[in-house]
Amino acid sequence: MNTFKIDIIPCLNDNYSYILSIDKDALVIDPAEVGPIINFLEKNNLNLKYILNTHHHFDHVGGNLELKKKYKALIAGSERDKERIPGIDIFLNEDEKFYFNQYEFEIINVPGHTSECIAYYIKSENAIFTGDAVFSLGCGRLFEGSPKQMWHSICKIKSLPDNTLIYCGHEYTASNAKFVQSINDNEQIKLKIIRIKELREKNIPTIPTTIAEEKELNIFFQADQDNIKDLLSNRNISDEEAFTRIRSAKDAF
Ligand SMILES: [Zn+2]
Repeated sequence: MNTFKIDIIPCLNDNYSYILSIDKDALVIDPAEVGPIINFLEKNNLNLKYILNTHHHFDHVGGNLELKKKYKALIAGSERDKERIPGIDIFLNEDEKFYFNQYEFEIINVPGHTSECIAYYIKSENAIFTGDAVFSLGCGRLFEGSPKQMWHSICKIKSLPDNTLIYCGHEYTASNAKFVQSINDNEQIKLKIIRIKELREKNIPTIPTTIAEEKELNIFFQADQDNIKDLLSNRNISDEEAFTRIRSAKDAF
């Protein structure tokens, strides 16, 4: 059989953990808490082999140790964050590969939200797991990195194929959409806000999004566009300066 499945597991208030499975083998990305993860694994009779972390924040590693103990799973994360990722066993670095059975995950450094954030890109499945580096219509707050670092991280993500599915760490799409609209109000964002509302009223995630959709609507992806620079100041500012202004505006929104 060998079907590769991705399931979205809502955790805590607005976190998303992800369970990836191949037949009965499973891995979890960023287990925010154990309850919903164990429920899903048991209901589907899955054997948890790995726990992958995008970064060290408690709402991404909260389930690490308990799940490791219960399932004898191995924990993987950035080697540069080995002091901060609880229970880490497998140390990953940029451009290295992680293998889940025959499926290859590429490690991409995406600093900005934290200094050592990584994303997992599965080319064969057109999927990237970004943690809190980017969200649908947004990007992570800069707790440890500079705007310049975050802009470069976004540029790396943006360079992936348009049909790549983005699975991010939180359901922030509705509030992000309001921020986008506050700077760049247009027909597309109005329609998107209606679509988001329809989904959220039924408690359906707005995730995954795609690279194409983020390029079209996410103002943080558009810091290199003249029309966006004009809205912020004028088209002569650098891409990094435009990004910095967008990020500061969002922090104050
Ligand atoms: Zn975080």
